[in-house]
Amino acid sequence: MASQEIEALASALARLPGLGPRSARRAVLWLIKRRETALSGLVDALAGVREHLVECAMCGNVDTTNPCGICADPRRDARALCVVEDIADLWALDRARLFTGRYHVLGGRLSALDGIRPEDLNIASLIDRVAAGGIDEVVLAMNATLEGQTTAHYLAERLEGFPLRLTQLAHGLPVGGELDYLDEGTLAQALRARRPVG
Ligand SMILES: [Zn+2]
Repeated sequence: MASQEIEALASALARLPGLGPRSARRAVLWLIKRRETALSGLVDALAGVREHLVECAMCGNVDTTNPCGICADPRRDARALCVVEDIADLWALDRARLFTGRYHVLGGRLSALDGIRPEDLNIASLIDRVAAGGIDEVVLAMNATLEGQTTAHYLAERLEGFPLRLTQLAHGLPVGGELDYLDEGTLAQALRARRPVG
């Protein structure tokens, strides 16, 4: 049997998404064998994040600075704003390096089932940002789920009347997707979003 400290580490790791008790024990063993290298590095990285992590008051992202690196970056297009449900979505979009504007993180999605109302999300701060002016386009990058689309619809209504272009992500065929394998909802979306060739 391992010591209390090692058991505590294993059970803490086992709570991480994607790790069960078995992989957590393997990770602990792996770290113990690399005490001077990997373990020390992990401890420093965790301590660094715990000490310096702040929420960006502008967009809701988390970073070690406030405003965050994205909001503070002068090369970013301040006239384009991409609204996402969660920080994970911001990171995913930003990894793709296709969007050069800034973001706004809602912190969730509207859900009657879970009792999530507009005032539970960062919607008031979004309206304030838009109302302050200087934004030409708002991209609603909600998930292609019922709740995501309900949220997008609600935001579209709230942003009506502002002098800006309101867009949303296209839904349809995934890259490499074969028609035969797609579910009906995806196929229907792709057909509805069809566009002229060329
Ligand atoms: Zn920010």
